Amino acid sequence: MTNVAHPIVIVGAGGAGLIAAWRAASMGAPVILFEKNTKVGIKLLISGGGKCNVTHDGAMEELRREFSHHESRFLKHAFFSFTNADVRRMLEARGVATLARPNGRVFPSTGRAADVVEALLSLLWECSVKVRLGSRVESILIDGNGVRGIVVQGKTLLAQHVVLATGGASYRKTGTTGDGFLWATAMGHSVVPLRPALAPIGLRPPLPDAWRGIALRDGCLYAYSAGKRVDSCRGDLLFTHEGISGPAPLAVSRAAAQAMEVGDVSLRFDFFPGLDPSALDQALNQLIRSNGRKQLGTILEALVPNRMIEWLLTSVHVSVQTRGHVLLRADRAAVVRLLKSWEMGSVERIDLDRGEVTAGGVALSEVDPHTMASRIVPGLYLAGEVLDIAGPIGGYNLQAAFSTGFVAGESAAREWLDSHESGLLIARE
Ligand SMILES: Cc1cc2nc3c(=O)[nH]c(=O)nc-3n(C[C@H](O)[C@H](O)[C@H](O)COP(=O)(O)OP(=O)(O)OC[C@H]3O[C@@H](n4cnc5c(N)ncnc54)[C@H](O)[C@@H]3O)c2cc1C
Repeated sequence: MTNVAHPIVIVGAGGAGLIAAWRAASMGAPVILFEKNTKVGIKLLISGGGKCNVTHDGAMEELRREFSHHESRFLKHAFFSFTNADVRRMLEARGVATLARPNGRVFPSTGRAADVVEALLSLLWECSVKVRLGSRVESILIDGNGVRGIVVQGKTLLAQHVVLATGGASYRKTGTTGDGFLWATAMGHSVVPLRPALAPIGLRPPLPDAWRGIALRDGCLYAYSAGKRVDSCRGDLLFTHEGISGPAPLAVSRAAAQAMEVGDVSLRFDFFPGLDPSALDQALNQLIRSNGRKQLGTILEALVPNRMIEWLLTSVHVSVQTRGHVLLRADRAAVVRLLKSWEMGSVERIDLDRGEVTAGGVALSEVDPHTMASRIVPGLYLAGEVLDIAGPIGGYNLQAAFSTGFVAGESAAREWLDSHESGLLIARE
């Protein structure tokens, strides 16, 4: 089969697909990008609460270490091929200045995710990528020699190089319905079971409705299963209509969801991770001594949000009305235990669809980390969340999508150019 006229096909116009398309086209290969939505970068638009935390500041080696061991090893080449500095340079060259917050998170300085998407789109126009919106790819065609094309809206398009950038299986309304996982499985790939990550957590029994909107700052959340700690995270926690959300719950949700598959998972919260129990006891004692005539409920307002105090004290059988100067030592010890290790309840649910990322995906051992090429199907490349990669919050996931997209686009273009017109690459670089 001659393939001169066959373009490189990119499936999915999220962070990974957009960068893959740009990189491949900028090297001189013809590229068609298919997106089922009527606009590109839907998830980018909602990321970071509409502000888009595009990447994380710092050495790429440090960014890499935020991923689990096997993910981090896999990402090494990609992270150094297209770094956080490259992401910022790319955006800044399109007029989108970026800003690193003190916590390392990098945002467009306008605080508008739409600016990031527009910048990426302008890169595509510049290098003549054909963008097909409202075009759901139905299947990938392969034969014994590898990729042969795709079927889109009932029509076959021949292609020998396809980049799968279809994202995960959460936030399905944004278009990520897990199509890539089904195709990868049908083509012989293993897909590591899909699980929610960075998802809110529902608790059993539910916590009081009146707590909605309360934020606990800089505590430590622990998840336990069968008496063993499965994960923990120090950070903020927010009470919502669903249960708990915010940085700490989102961070432990992945391990908690996995542990739930084999048994009950319970959560505990330490309000003061920076103080050991005796230091907290001393601090509390001091507070009580200097407010001896006040009721315990009032005294604790200095430590715990108002709306929670009565409920929490009742849970440890201490009266909110007890005056400080008559508080028994045993009751003070109970309050310290509560503040250091509040038993929040059991995890009722963690929904895949509510995860900011999908953990699991196409097995990394079946993808070459230097090219993002499938080790199973020649001509197939994979990038972004369709892979078994899920990082923490902070811009890590978009960086992973951009870096793997860059490598996938570059490798597909190199192969395309090698097999078509080897002089072109040199001429255009
Ligand atoms: C609410 C929310 C907030 C987030 N905030 C951040 C953040 O601030 N920083 C960060 O780093 N990460 C964030 N993430 C995670 C991050 O957005 C994703 O990890 C990243 O976008 C994944 O990029 P991707 O290109 O692999 O997939 P996606 O961006 O999901 O793109 C995949 C695309 O493929 C398309 N597609 C799927 N199937 C087909 C098909 N059959 N035919 C055609 N098109 C198809 C989909 O419509 C979709 O547009 C957030 C996620 C969510 C849900």
